[in-house]
Amino acid sequence: MRKKILFLSMLLLLSLASGSCNRVSNKNETKETKETKEVILASFTVLADIISNVAKDDFIVRSITKPGVEVHGYQPTPSDLVNASSAFVFIDNGFGFELWAEKFVSNLKVKRITVAEDLDPIFISEDFYKGKPNPHAWISPKRGMLYVDILVDSLSELRPSKRTLFEENGKIYKDKLSKIDKEFSLFINNLNKDRRYLVSCEGAFSYLTNDYGLEEVYLWPVNAESQITPKRMTRTISLVKEKNVPSVFCESTVSNESQMVVANETEANFGGNLFVDSLSDDNGPASSYIKMLEHNLDLIKKGLF
Ligand SMILES: [Zn+2]
Repeated sequence: MRKKILFLSMLLLLSLASGSCNRVSNKNETKETKETKEVILASFTVLADIISNVAKDDFIVRSITKPGVEVHGYQPTPSDLVNASSAFVFIDNGFGFELWAEKFVSNLKVKRITVAEDLDPIFISEDFYKGKPNPHAWISPKRGMLYVDILVDSLSELRPSKRTLFEENGKIYKDKLSKIDKEFSLFINNLNKDRRYLVSCEGAFSYLTNDYGLEEVYLWPVNAESQITPKRMTRTISLVKEKNVPSVFCESTVSNESQMVVANETEANFGGNLFVDSLSDDNGPASSYIKMLEHNLDLIKKGLF
Protein backbone atom coordinates (compact mmCIF):
# COMPACT_ATOMS: atom_id res chain seq x y z
CA MET A 1 0.00 0.00 0.00
CA ARG A 2 2.78 2.40 0.98
CA LYS A 3 4.55 1.55 -2.25
CA LYS A 4 1.41 2.32 -4.21
CA ILE A 5 1.03 5.71 -2.52
CA LEU A 6 4.69 6.48 -3.18
CA PHE A 7 4.33 5.49 -6.83
CA LEU A 8 1.22 7.65 -7.26
CA SER A 9 2.89 10.63 -5.63
CA MET A 10 5.89 10.15 -7.93
CA LEU A 11 3.58 10.14 -10.94
CA LEU A 12 1.86 13.29 -9.69
CA LEU A 13 5.15 15.10 -9.20
CA LEU A 14 6.29 13.96 -12.61
CA SER A 15 3.16 15.16 -14.34
CA LEU A 16 3.53 18.56 -12.64
CA ALA A 17 7.16 18.76 -13.68
CA SER A 18 6.63 17.68 -17.28
CA GLY A 19 4.30 20.62 -17.73
CA SER A 20 7.25 22.94 -17.23
CA CYS A 21 9.69 23.92 -19.91
CA ASN A 22 12.79 21.86 -20.72
CA ARG A 23 14.99 24.86 -20.09
CA VAL A 24 15.77 26.37 -16.71
CA SER A 25 17.47 29.56 -15.69
CA ASN A 26 21.03 29.39 -14.49
CA LYS A 27 21.52 30.97 -11.08
CA ASN A 28 24.96 32.25 -12.09
CA GLU A 29 23.77 34.25 -15.04
CA THR A 30 23.86 38.00 -15.05
CA LYS A 31 20.60 39.85 -15.37
CA GLU A 32 21.74 41.37 -18.65
CA THR A 33 22.02 38.09 -20.54
CA LYS A 34 18.91 36.44 -19.10
CA GLU A 35 19.62 33.36 -21.16
CA THR A 36 18.31 29.98 -20.26
CA LYS A 37 20.44 26.89 -20.36
CA GLU A 38 19.62 23.30 -21.08
CA VAL A 39 20.06 20.70 -18.37
CA ILE A 40 22.19 17.57 -18.71
CA LEU A 41 21.51 14.95 -16.06
CA ALA A 42 24.15 12.42 -15.03
CA SER A 43 23.64 9.32 -12.93
CA PHE A 44 26.57 9.95 -10.55
CA THR A 45 28.86 12.75 -9.44
CA VAL A 46 32.06 11.55 -11.14
CA LEU A 47 30.36 11.41 -14.52
CA ALA A 48 28.65 14.75 -13.92
CA ASP A 49 32.03 16.39 -13.32
CA ILE A 50 33.52 14.92 -16.51
CA ILE A 51 30.47 16.15 -18.44
CA SER A 52 30.80 19.62 -16.86
CA ASN A 53 34.31 19.87 -18.22
CA VAL A 54 33.09 19.04 -21.72
CA ALA A 55 29.93 21.15 -21.66
CA LYS A 56 31.33 23.99 -19.50
CA ASP A 57 29.14 27.06 -18.96
CA ASP A 58 26.85 26.46 -21.91
CA PHE A 59 24.83 23.84 -20.01
CA ILE A 60 23.72 23.04 -16.49
CA VAL A 61 24.96 19.62 -15.40
CA ARG A 62 23.37 17.82 -12.46
CA SER A 63 23.87 14.44 -10.86
CA ILE A 64 21.05 12.21 -9.61
CA THR A 65 23.18 10.73 -6.82
CA LYS A 66 24.87 13.13 -4.43
CA PRO A 67 28.52 13.21 -3.25
CA GLY A 68 29.43 10.34 -0.93
CA VAL A 69 26.42 8.24 -1.81
CA GLU A 70 26.64 4.53 -2.70
CA VAL A 71 25.55 4.44 -6.34
CA HIS A 72 25.12 0.77 -7.35
CA GLY A 73 21.99 0.11 -5.30
CA TYR A 74 20.69 3.68 -5.08
CA GLN A 75 16.91 4.11 -4.79
CA PRO A 76 15.71 7.13 -6.82
CA THR A 77 13.35 9.51 -5.04
CA PRO A 78 10.32 11.40 -6.42
CA SER A 79 12.42 14.58 -6.63
CA ASP A 80 14.99 12.72 -8.76
CA LEU A 81 12.21 12.06 -11.27
CA VAL A 82 11.28 15.75 -11.24
CA ASN A 83 14.93 16.72 -11.86
CA ALA A 84 15.17 14.23 -14.68
CA SER A 85 12.12 15.60 -16.43
CA SER A 86 13.73 19.04 -16.77
CA ALA A 87 16.78 17.60 -18.58
CA PHE A 88 17.13 16.98 -22.30
CA VAL A 89 19.48 14.05 -21.83
CA PHE A 90 20.24 11.48 -19.15
CA ILE A 91 23.81 10.17 -19.18
CA ASP A 92 24.75 7.02 -17.32
CA ASN A 93 27.85 4.85 -17.10
CA GLY A 94 26.31 1.48 -17.93
CA PHE A 95 28.11 -1.90 -17.57
CA GLY A 96 25.49 -2.60 -14.86
CA PHE A 97 26.77 0.15 -12.56
CA GLU A 98 23.43 1.90 -12.01
CA LEU A 99 21.17 -1.03 -11.17
CA TRP A 100 18.30 1.46 -10.90
CA ALA A 101 18.78 3.34 -14.20
CA GLU A 102 16.71 1.18 -16.53
CA LYS A 103 13.55 1.49 -14.46
CA PHE A 104 14.27 5.14 -13.75
CA VAL A 105 14.41 6.24 -17.39
CA SER A 106 11.66 3.96 -18.64
CA ASN A 107 8.95 6.52 -17.82
CA LEU A 108 10.88 9.61 -18.89
CA LYS A 109 10.93 11.29 -22.26
CA VAL A 110 14.63 12.16 -22.30
CA LYS A 111 17.45 11.13 -24.61
CA ARG A 112 19.91 8.71 -23.07
CA ILE A 113 23.64 8.32 -23.49
CA THR A 114 25.27 5.26 -21.94
CA VAL A 115 29.03 5.74 -22.01
CA ALA A 116 29.90 2.04 -21.64
CA GLU A 117 28.28 1.22 -24.97
CA ASP A 118 31.46 2.57 -26.58
CA LEU A 119 33.96 1.08 -24.13
CA ASP A 120 35.73 -2.29 -24.03
CA PRO A 121 34.86 -4.05 -20.77
CA ILE A 122 37.01 -5.93 -18.30
CA PHE A 123 34.93 -8.77 -16.91
CA ILE A 124 34.38 -9.64 -13.25
CA SER A 125 35.99 -12.99 -12.54
CA GLU A 126 34.07 -14.41 -9.59
CA ASP A 127 30.88 -14.86 -7.60
CA PHE A 128 27.42 -13.63 -8.53
CA TYR A 129 28.73 -11.05 -11.01
CA LYS A 130 31.15 -13.44 -12.72
CA GLY A 131 31.27 -12.80 -16.48
CA LYS A 132 29.59 -9.39 -16.18
CA PRO A 133 31.51 -6.23 -17.10
CA ASN A 134 33.27 -4.44 -14.27
CA PRO A 135 31.56 -1.04 -14.34
CA HIS A 136 34.35 1.14 -12.84
CA ALA A 137 36.17 2.06 -16.05
CA TRP A 138 36.59 5.74 -15.10
CA ILE A 139 38.98 4.79 -12.30
CA SER A 140 41.82 4.63 -14.83
CA PRO A 141 42.91 8.03 -16.23
CA LYS A 142 43.52 6.30 -19.58
CA ARG A 143 39.84 5.30 -19.73
CA GLY A 144 38.82 8.71 -18.38
CA MET A 145 40.21 10.17 -21.58
CA LEU A 146 37.99 7.76 -23.54
CA TYR A 147 34.98 8.99 -21.52
CA VAL A 148 35.79 12.50 -22.72
CA ASP A 149 35.95 11.39 -26.38
CA ILE A 150 32.66 9.50 -26.08
CA LEU A 151 30.93 12.45 -24.41
CA VAL A 152 32.25 14.94 -26.99
CA ASP A 153 30.93 12.76 -29.82
CA SER A 154 27.57 11.85 -28.32
CA LEU A 155 26.76 15.35 -27.08
CA SER A 156 27.78 16.76 -30.48
CA GLU A 157 25.31 14.42 -32.14
CA LEU A 158 22.53 15.76 -29.93
CA ARG A 159 23.61 19.41 -30.21
CA PRO A 160 25.60 19.74 -33.49
CA SER A 161 25.93 23.53 -33.18
CA LYS A 162 28.06 23.01 -30.06
CA ARG A 163 30.49 20.50 -31.58
CA THR A 164 33.47 22.89 -31.74
CA LEU A 165 32.89 23.97 -28.16
CA PHE A 166 32.70 20.36 -26.93
CA GLU A 167 35.83 19.45 -28.89
CA GLU A 168 37.85 22.40 -27.59
CA ASN A 169 36.76 21.84 -23.97
CA GLY A 170 37.42 18.12 -24.33
CA LYS A 171 40.95 18.70 -25.58
CA ILE A 172 41.87 21.01 -22.69
CA TYR A 173 40.45 18.51 -20.20
CA LYS A 174 42.16 15.51 -21.79
CA ASP A 175 45.52 17.29 -21.59
CA LYS A 176 45.07 17.46 -17.80
CA LEU A 177 44.15 13.76 -17.62
CA SER A 178 47.08 12.88 -19.84
CA LYS A 179 49.46 14.59 -17.41
CA ILE A 180 48.07 12.46 -14.52
CA ASP A 181 48.34 9.34 -16.68
CA LYS A 182 52.00 10.00 -17.57
CA GLU A 183 52.99 10.73 -13.96
CA PHE A 184 51.40 7.52 -12.67
CA SER A 185 52.93 5.43 -15.48
CA LEU A 186 56.34 6.81 -14.55
CA PHE A 187 55.78 5.97 -10.88
CA ILE A 188 54.77 2.37 -11.65
CA ASN A 189 57.70 1.90 -14.03
CA ASN A 190 60.06 2.89 -11.23
CA LEU A 191 58.26 0.76 -8.60
CA ASN A 192 59.83 -2.55 -7.61
CA LYS A 193 57.84 -5.37 -9.26
CA ASP A 194 57.36 -7.07 -5.85
CA ARG A 195 55.37 -4.10 -4.62
CA ARG A 196 52.92 -3.82 -7.47
CA TYR A 197 49.81 -4.97 -5.54
CA LEU A 198 46.66 -2.94 -5.04
CA VAL A 199 44.54 -4.40 -2.21
CA SER A 200 41.10 -2.75 -1.87
CA CYS A 201 37.66 -3.49 -0.40
CA GLU A 202 35.68 -3.49 -3.65
CA GLY A 203 37.13 -4.93 -6.86
CA ALA A 204 36.77 -1.50 -8.39
CA PHE A 205 40.31 -1.03 -9.63
CA SER A 206 40.50 -3.60 -12.46
CA TYR A 207 40.86 -0.93 -15.15
CA LEU A 208 43.56 0.91 -13.23
CA THR A 209 45.53 -2.25 -12.38
CA ASN A 210 45.12 -3.56 -15.93
CA ASP A 211 46.21 -0.30 -17.57
CA TYR A 212 49.24 0.31 -15.36
CA GLY A 213 50.54 -3.18 -14.61
CA LEU A 214 49.45 -3.76 -11.00
CA GLU A 215 47.99 -6.93 -9.43
CA GLU A 216 44.47 -6.40 -8.10
CA VAL A 217 43.32 -7.97 -4.81
CA TYR A 218 39.96 -7.22 -3.18
CA LEU A 219 37.63 -8.31 -0.39
CA TRP A 220 34.49 -8.39 -2.53
CA PRO A 221 33.93 -8.02 -6.29
CA VAL A 222 31.15 -5.37 -6.34
CA ASN A 223 29.74 -3.11 -3.62
CA ALA A 224 26.21 -4.25 -4.41
CA GLU A 225 27.31 -7.60 -2.98
CA SER A 226 29.54 -6.29 -0.23
CA GLN A 227 29.64 -9.33 1.99
CA ILE A 228 32.93 -10.38 3.38
CA THR A 229 33.17 -14.14 3.70
CA PRO A 230 35.73 -15.93 5.93
CA LYS A 231 37.21 -17.48 2.77
CA ARG A 232 37.83 -14.09 1.16
CA MET A 233 39.24 -12.66 4.37
CA THR A 234 41.64 -15.59 4.78
CA ARG A 235 42.68 -15.42 1.14
CA THR A 236 43.44 -11.69 1.36
CA ILE A 237 45.35 -11.97 4.63
CA SER A 238 47.45 -14.85 3.25
CA LEU A 239 48.31 -12.94 0.11
CA VAL A 240 49.21 -9.73 1.93
CA LYS A 241 51.50 -11.73 4.24
CA GLU A 242 53.02 -13.84 1.49
CA LYS A 243 53.75 -10.90 -0.82
CA ASN A 244 54.67 -8.46 1.97
CA VAL A 245 52.16 -5.94 0.62
CA PRO A 246 53.03 -2.65 2.36
CA SER A 247 49.54 -1.03 2.38
CA VAL A 248 45.89 -1.99 1.95
CA PHE A 249 43.03 0.36 1.02
CA CYS A 250 39.25 0.71 1.11
CA GLU A 251 36.72 2.85 -0.76
CA SER A 252 35.04 5.96 0.59
CA THR A 253 31.46 4.75 0.16
CA VAL A 254 31.79 1.57 2.27
CA SER A 255 32.99 0.74 5.80
CA ASN A 256 36.72 0.06 6.02
CA GLU A 257 36.25 -2.20 9.05
CA SER A 258 37.08 -5.42 7.17
CA GLN A 259 40.22 -3.97 5.64
CA MET A 260 41.34 -2.82 9.09
CA VAL A 261 41.19 -6.48 10.14
CA VAL A 262 43.50 -7.34 7.24
CA ALA A 263 45.91 -4.57 8.28
CA ASN A 264 45.84 -5.72 11.92
CA GLU A 265 46.47 -9.35 10.99
CA THR A 266 49.42 -8.53 8.74
CA GLU A 267 52.37 -6.16 8.57
CA ALA A 268 50.50 -3.92 6.14
CA ASN A 269 49.45 -0.34 6.89
CA PHE A 270 45.97 0.92 6.19
CA GLY A 271 46.73 3.26 3.28
CA GLY A 272 43.49 5.27 3.36
CA ASN A 273 40.16 5.61 1.63
CA LEU A 274 40.12 5.72 -2.15
CA PHE A 275 37.30 7.40 -4.04
CA VAL A 276 35.63 5.44 -6.80
CA ASP A 277 31.85 5.52 -7.11
CA SER A 278 31.24 8.99 -5.75
CA LEU A 279 33.06 12.30 -5.38
CA SER A 280 33.50 13.95 -1.99
CA ASP A 281 31.66 17.16 -1.16
CA ASP A 282 33.38 20.47 -1.93
CA ASN A 283 35.41 20.41 1.29
CA GLY A 284 36.66 16.85 0.79
CA PRO A 285 39.76 15.60 -1.02
CA ALA A 286 37.94 14.42 -4.15
CA SER A 287 35.54 17.19 -5.10
CA SER A 288 36.22 16.74 -8.82
CA TYR A 289 37.24 13.82 -11.06
CA ILE A 290 40.76 15.24 -11.44
CA LYS A 291 41.10 15.75 -7.68
CA MET A 292 39.76 12.24 -7.10
CA LEU A 293 42.38 10.71 -9.42
CA GLU A 294 45.14 12.80 -7.84
CA HIS A 295 44.01 11.83 -4.33
CA ASN A 296 43.80 8.11 -5.19
CA LEU A 297 47.06 7.92 -7.07
CA ASP A 298 48.83 9.92 -4.38
CA LEU A 299 47.63 7.50 -1.65
CA ILE A 300 48.65 4.52 -3.78
CA LYS A 301 52.08 6.05 -4.42
CA LYS A 302 52.64 6.75 -0.72
CA GLY A 303 51.31 3.33 0.29
CA LEU A 304 53.29 1.21 -2.15
CA PHE A 305 56.59 3.07 -2.39
ZN1 LIG B 1 31.44 0.41 -7.18
